[in-house]
Amino acid sequence: MATLVLATHNAHKVEELRRILADGLEGIDLVAYDGPDPVEDGDSFEANALIKARAAAAHTGLPAIADDSGIAVDALEGAPGIHSARYAKTRVDADNVALLLRNLEGVADRRASFICVAAFVHGDYEHVVRGEWPGEVLNERRGEHGFGYDPIFRPEGLDVSSAELAPEEKDRLSHRSRAFRAILPIVREKLLG
Ligand code: IMP
Repeated sequence: MATLVLATHNAHKVEELRRILADGLEGIDLVAYDGPDPVEDGDSFEANALIKARAAAAHTGLPAIADDSGIAVDALEGAPGIHSARYAKTRVDADNVALLLRNLEGVADRRASFICVAAFVHGDYEHVVRGEWPGEVLNERRGEHGFGYDPIFRPEGLDVSSAELAPEEKDRLSHRSRAFRAILPIVREKLLG
């Protein structure tokens, strides 16, 4: 059994990834990182995901994966982007959503994408993969599932917000699922041969 450290203190993310990766984790023991958090001062999703994966790998001496995610709005030139979690100074989801709705008041072009970059670090080996989920920002909140910007994001091709999707449905489509399902074969190859 190979051990893979997931660089997050968020138990919800560990569970979500166990669900997304499901049988892809056969032979791999996914454990949550419990060391110190690095300063996430990168200027891209890629840079921040790598900072987190490198810190967890260095601290534990084990292979590690991390992700960095957010929502990028076309009309706002990609904002809130890497600042999604702290867009409103309070860092509260409801405040982030309210601020984004306010900043898009009267804006016709509502195109946006959820983005997730997954980074894998194993010794000197590093690999990053980007997953994108295109859609648009709604005018008001809809749905009770999910977190963050889910209530105001309508994925392309659907008539519902991502907060109206059942968790398993969101798992199948999401940016996080795309990134981690894409990086998993690389992780398996490196850890299990
Ligand atoms: P982090 O990757 O944990 O730093 O999260 C970044 C932020 O992006 C979150 O706090 C949310 O505001 C937003 N975000 C990332 N993924 C999602 C998602 O699947 N749904 C809604 N919001 C998300």
